Formats: sequence, structure tokens, C-alpha cells
Amino acid sequence: MALLEKKVGRRNFLKGSAAAAAALAAAGISGCAPNQGEGEKLSGTDGGNTPHQVASDTAILEERGRWVPMCCNENCGGGCVNRGYLVDGVIVRQATDDTREDTDNRPQQRSCPRGRSLRQQLYNVDRLKYPMKRKSWQPGGGENSHGELRGKDEWERISWDDALDLIAAELKRVYADYGPHAVMCNSWRWQPASNLLRAMGGAIMESNTESFGTWVFKPQCLGLNVVWGDHADLATVNDRYDIRNAEYIVFLGANTVWCNGITPNYYFKLAQEAGAQFVYINTSRNASVAAFDGKWIPARPGTDTALLLAVMYEMMRLDEERGDVIDWDFLNTYCVGFDLDHMPEDAELNECISEYVKGIYDGIPKTPEWASEICGTSVEDITFLAEIMGKNNKTMFLHSYAASRVNGAENLPQAFLTVGAMGGHMGKSGHACGASYSFDTADSGPWLYEYADVRGNTRLPDPYENNCIEGPMWWKSVLDGKYVSTCVTGHRENTDAALTFHKAKEMPLDPHILFGFGQNFAQTRQGLNDFLKAIQVFDMVVACDIKSTLTVQYADFALPALTAWECNDDPSDGPVDWPLYRNGDKLSRRDLIRANWPCVKPVGEARSDVWILRALTEKVGLNVEDVFPYEFKTTFFDNLVGCQFLDKDGVTYKRLLTWTEEDSQKWGVDNPPQEGEMTLEEFIHAGCYVIEREPGDNYSFIGYKDFVDDPVANPRPSRSGKLELYCQLKADNFNVMELNPEPIKPYANYIVPVDGYEASFADWDNKVKGEFPIQMYNHHYLRRSHTSFDNSSWLQEAFVNPVFINADDAAERDIADGDTVLVRSAYGKTLRNACVLSSIMPGTAALPHGAHSVIDDSDPDDVIDRGGNEQILYGPVQSNYFPHLGGYNSLLVELEKYDGAPLQEDYERDPFILGDEA
Ligand code: SF4
Repeated sequence: MALLEKKVGRRNFLKGSAAAAAALAAAGISGCAPNQGEGEKLSGTDGGNTPHQVASDTAILEERGRWVPMCCNENCGGGCVNRGYLVDGVIVRQATDDTREDTDNRPQQRSCPRGRSLRQQLYNVDRLKYPMKRKSWQPGGGENSHGELRGKDEWERISWDDALDLIAAELKRVYADYGPHAVMCNSWRWQPASNLLRAMGGAIMESNTESFGTWVFKPQCLGLNVVWGDHADLATVNDRYDIRNAEYIVFLGANTVWCNGITPNYYFKLAQEAGAQFVYINTSRNASVAAFDGKWIPARPGTDTALLLAVMYEMMRLDEERGDVIDWDFLNTYCVGFDLDHMPEDAELNECISEYVKGIYDGIPKTPEWASEICGTSVEDITFLAEIMGKNNKTMFLHSYAASRVNGAENLPQAFLTVGAMGGHMGKSGHACGASYSFDTADSGPWLYEYADVRGNTRLPDPYENNCIEGPMWWKSVLDGKYVSTCVTGHRENTDAALTFHKAKEMPLDPHILFGFGQNFAQTRQGLNDFLKAIQVFDMVVACDIKSTLTVQYADFALPALTAWECNDDPSDGPVDWPLYRNGDKLSRRDLIRANWPCVKPVGEARSDVWILRALTEKVGLNVEDVFPYEFKTTFFDNLVGCQFLDKDGVTYKRLLTWTEEDSQKWGVDNPPQEGEMTLEEFIHAGCYVIEREPGDNYSFIGYKDFVDDPVANPRPSRSGKLELYCQLKADNFNVMELNPEPIKPYANYIVPVDGYEASFADWDNKVKGEFPIQMYNHHYLRRSHTSFDNSSWLQEAFVNPVFINADDAAERDIADGDTVLVRSAYGKTLRNACVLSSIMPGTAALPHGAHSVIDDSDPDDVIDRGGNEQILYGPVQSNYFPHLGGYNSLLVELEKYDGAPLQEDYERDPFILGDEA
């Protein structure tokens, strides 16, 4: 109930919105909007619950509104189905996918607690509803901008026209006076905001590995899959029916129960019931270990490559002792580089992984004892892993990307591949080796549906090269006025078997404009203390978002964006506007097509990104049709009407929707008529279409089967066409940057990570800890998806945001459960309340990723983030070889009991709002 106690209560907000919607309906101007509910205004009595609860439940019981799809697109990728009950144009209650029978072959796609709080994303008190300008900001740059007041100033409401006039004039001035090196864009490269700036001459972008860690470093060169543009090592694990054939399901760095939605975990539960033993390699004994009665194998953050090298050592030892552990046939037929008899043609070094593991080259055999000192895993557990990775076990070796979001993890993907290949765990029922992540979790393989080509996806080329700031250097580069570039475009752009990177070169940077669309960059870019200084130097900072994020708080213009659930299709209600989100895209699941249909009118004056950018394009004097040739409505319907799914024969595609001339007329589009499975109305009512499966059907998928069946006809994307356990291109790509005097090896050699476990010691040989002795990782948390959902007071109450500390470490520091703790690194400080656990490894701690900062700069020389954002603990530190890496899963910190006032819980603090008019 905390939200109702805020200064601007949810109840009043809902009343206002409902009344506004009812007024529109009464005036007869709701028109052909796809989303207006019918019925009476909400009313009700308390009776122990809030009036809103009583009224909304009564409305449902009396069927005064209707259920509409409300799909969850909030940065998780889980693809669950949610529905909202719409009364008077307001979502008053939520449900999940419950419109049909729940069966194994066609299960309900149920949502997690985050998805069930989606309506707070629409109606929360921090929702941006009108364009806002920071009061002291004036155009012209320099002192006019009063950058020192960012984050502290008052805000004023401004019209769209005035806001866009001012922004356009500043863009034109800065491009004319300073050129493209003065404009920095924090938006995904494929998103429309980047297009506008490319049309104006280009901008400084960022190249950061974000989700995929080191797995995104040209995985094709190893022979791994890359799908949906840049998603590494996905769609190579067997589908959901075959995971039930596994004897062991071994996860590296995964917690699917918190991160991957309900349905994938239901599939894993069925695998457990079929007899699979679950094994988790993790720093803590997490919720998934508990849910699946798994075996926990502890390993310190960033030490997984050492662990896997020891697993290789043990597999070789066991194979020598008794045979039948290593799948030699698989290694010799499908891989290169395991031994010197099977090297790739382009090898420049006469070395291989098996001899490296034995210690032939460096005199260090990678024994379990060697690894145990680094990773903290017991010798017995390493041998256990080697046993179950053996060829005669049906083992699925799965990873998320958490273990690769660590400095020095450059060789982890190749080490993971090598272990999987040694056991021959590819191309067979019950065996797998690959990623289990997001929408691909527990049901992998090519998708069973596809969308047609759409109009409106024009991406203009970058006008100049080397325009990306790499990895954690964004704010430091602003302060330095220069950055170092190692690639012509972003690190993911070049996917062929060639060099992507080049020798590091210095590039100029003259920061005047910071342009942020759809990215909460202040809260997610590494180095919050640098941010607080760097944000002051710009002439103008623009932020477009749905809510008052930290980025919005520190901007000059706050532009209110549409959520995926809002739309206006009636010109008499304001501009016709459809949300950015394209139906389905990659955010559904293999067999799930979601009805991502906007269900309510825009809140306040919120507008879609493309509406804003088209208006801005016109104001800067460019031809809108050249930059944004189609409105999102065209793209939206192209996607939807063009959607087709694979028929039961596994070969032919069928249209999802029946479409008529009348449909095109009704929605004002020009999509041609077609026969399909259902009408648009039926699709919207159901909220989704789930393709019916059954064991042994034509949709069945075994990862790598085509390659294993015929490696010549179906080569892997590496230079050799095989899986490269020695990969010259990998080594060349790292080494060409010349950032590390010690060349990386073409195989998975061990690297002592920058800011890893070893660096937590002042004296490694004598095991004397240093000033920052605790390794902290920043895990995904059930309360939010990155920074999305963190404003939900329901989730804040359900999942408080502590720092998780090992019981021995806490006792050593006199910290008790619930105590407020000061977490400090070499770069910054934050406060959190302690959650003391025995289920997290000694010497490690965990701070959930993505919290909203509460900056306490009352002492400018001793800034403390009272909100618990991990970025304040982060410095401009790049990884050993891959400068683009966001290595935030091993921060070196110290913990101490805080001697100031105890920290209140997040749900007890005021919401972040720019002002009553925001
Ligand atoms: S698991 Fe992800 S997609 Fe599913 S409801 Fe939760 S946040 Fe939304």
C-alpha cells in the first residue's frame, strides 16, 4: 500500500485518468481508438480494502470492462503474457495468460511478479506525462546552460512545440559550431534517435557488451551461433521436450528462477521430474538451486576459466586412467586445436589446449588443486564435474552470460566450448552445450514463426568511423575530452571471418550535447562519481523516457515517451501515434506469438519516439521522409499482418491473421488481404497464439545436429568450418588492439583478471588481503529488469534491496542482519542494509544490479549513493584484452557497519518526480 501514501497517490491518479477517459467518451470523441473500455466510472467502499481495490474487483465481477493484452516488454526478454482489465480506459487489475487450458503441449505463458505490476509502469506517480524543461537552462551553451544545477534544479512544464524548437536550435548550433564530435548519443545504434543524429552528421556512440559479456567477442570465429543480430551462442540447445532426456543439466552462472520467467522454469521442472540432476556453478546457493534440488558448486566471481581448465585436466586424467571419458571421435572430427595432430590451417603457433592444460608451455599443470586456490571450488567438486562431463553421460552444459561479465573472462567462451566438446555434448538427444538465456531458456532452436519485412526500418550509415566510446570509459572520456577506439563501428557490427578490431587509436571528443532516448544511461553507465562531474559540462542534455529515471533527473529536457501499451488512433484526441515496439519481434518465445497490442490512450502528452523524432527532424530542417520514411503504425501493422508460423509439417508457413480490405480501411493501413488462422479481434482477445507441440513433432530440435550429421555440408561459421579450440582469428582480433603487452593465446589460456580475486590480495603469495578484500558481483534481481520496474512500490516492498554478505565476513566486521552497511570501493560509496547469509561464499558479496541512485553530495568530497546503485563502485577500468567489456561482476570492495542514521527501505522513501506537472 506504500504507493497510496505518496504525495501524489495512485488512487487519485487513477480517479483522474478514469474521469478524463469517461469525459472523452461522453463527448463522443473516443472515435476508433483500439483501446477504449466501456462502462461506468469506478466507485466503491472501503470494507477493509482500498476503495480502488473494491471498485476494480466489483467492476470485474459485474463485467463492466474487458480484458486486453498487456505484454511485458520491460527489458527482461522473458516474453511472458500479461493481461489488463480495462474499465473507462484505465487498467484496473492484471491477470496473466489464463484464457485456455494449461497443458504440457500448449502451456500458459504465465508472468512473474514484475509482469504482474506492469500497470504501475503506466500510472505510477513518477510517470512522465508532459514535456518538462529545467528552469535555469537557457540556450546558447556555456554558462547559459547552468550545468552545475543539473540534478538540483527545479522543473517547468513546456509545450511540445517549444521544447522541440529549443532542442532543434541547439542541435543545429552545436553541429555548425563544433561538428559531430560534440554530440553524444546514448541510444541503441539500431534505434531511431541514432538515425536522426546520423542524418545530421553523426555522433559519438557507445560500444559496451551489456548483456553478453565476453561471449559477444566474435563468437562466430570459434564456430558458435549468433542469432537475431548479436545474440551469441543461442539456439544451439535442444528443445523443451529433449531437455527431459538429460541426466545432468549443468548451469554455469545462471539463476533461471529469478531471471527467466515462469514458463521456462516449468519446462526445467518437467526435466527434473523426468530424472535430470541439476548442477549450478555459482558464487551463491541461489533460488534455482533450491527450486530444482540442485547441487551447488561454489566458484568465486571471475574464476570460471580456471575452474574449467581444471575440469579439462581431470577429464584427461580420468580418460587416461580408465578411458571412455573424452569423446575423441567428436574432437577429431568436429573440432580443431585440441591436440597438435588436429590444428587449423591458419595456426601460427605450435601450441594446443591439451598440452597447455598439462603445463607443457608454462610449467603449471592446471590441476584441481591449482584451480581450487583461485576459484575456491573443492577438488572433489572439480572431479565431480569432470565425471559428469564425460562422454557416457547425457549432460547438458548451459550458461547464462553472468560469468563472462567479468574482467579477464576473454577466454571463458572458448573454455566452455572446449569442455562441452571434450564430452561430445552436441548433436545428440540428451546432450547440449550452449546458452540458456532469456526467451531461449529451456526451449531452444529456430523460432517457429517469422515476421515479414517491414517498412520503416531504415538505418542510415554512420558518417564517420571510430565513433564509439568503449566499455566503462564513457564518463571518463567526457572529462578527458578524448577517447580510445579499437574498432571502426561497434564491437558487434562485423560478423564475418575477418578482423573486427584494429590498433587502439585516440579520438577527439568535445562534449556539448548528450542525447538520450530509451536508455537510462546515468544509472547504467559505469562510474557514477565521474558522471556527477561529467554531466555538468554539456550545453544540453535531452532525456526521453516513460518515467523519472536518474537520467531524466539530470537532464535539461525530459520528454515523455509512450509505453508499449499506449496508442492514439483518433486525430480528434491528438496526434495519431503508435508505440515504438514492434509486435513480437525477438521478445516472445519459440512457440509463442504475443498480441502486443496497445490497450489505452496515451497518459498526458506522452508521444512515441518516432513521433518526437519526426517532429525534431522537421525542425532541424531535414526531410522527414529521408530519415523516418514511415510512421510506426505502418511498421507495427506490417509486422503484425505479415506474421506467419510454421505449420505442423515443419516446412510450410501459414499466415497468423486473416486480413481483409475492411481491416485495412478500419485501421488506415494498406496491407493486402489474406487468409489466416484467426482474426485480429480473436488474436487480441486471446492475448497470444501458442503453437501446439507434441513430443516427436516436426518442430523438434537438437542443437548442432545438422553439423554433426554432415559437417561438410553444414560447416560452422569459423574459418575452418569446425569448432575452434585453437582459434587464430580470436587471438589476432584481441592482439591487434595492442592493449596488453602479453599476447592472448589462440586457445583458452588462463588470464589473471584486472580487479579479480587475485587483486583482492596485497600479497598473493602469503595470502594477505588488500584494502578492498571483498569481491562483489551485481546480479539480476527479481524486483526489476535492469532499471525497469525499480519504481514499483509493490516490488520494492516484496523484494527489498539489501547487500548480501557472507556470515563469516559479517561477523568479522560486527555486521548483523538488517544493519546499514557502507560499501566502498576505490571509486565510490553506497549504503545498503545487510542481508547476512551462509549461502554465499566467504570473501564475496552481492549487490543487486540496477537500483535507482539517491545521491547524497552534502559533502562534495565524500559523495554517497544511498540508493545502492552499483555504478558508484565502478571506475574507468577496462578488461585485460576486451576494452568494450562491462566487467561488473567482480568489483573489489570493503564493507563496514555504517555509523550514521540507519537507511530506510526503498518503499518508505518519496518517489522520484520532477514536479507535480511532470
Ligand atoms: S519474466 Fe520478464 S517478461 Fe516475464 S513477466 Fe517477468 S519481467 Fe515480464
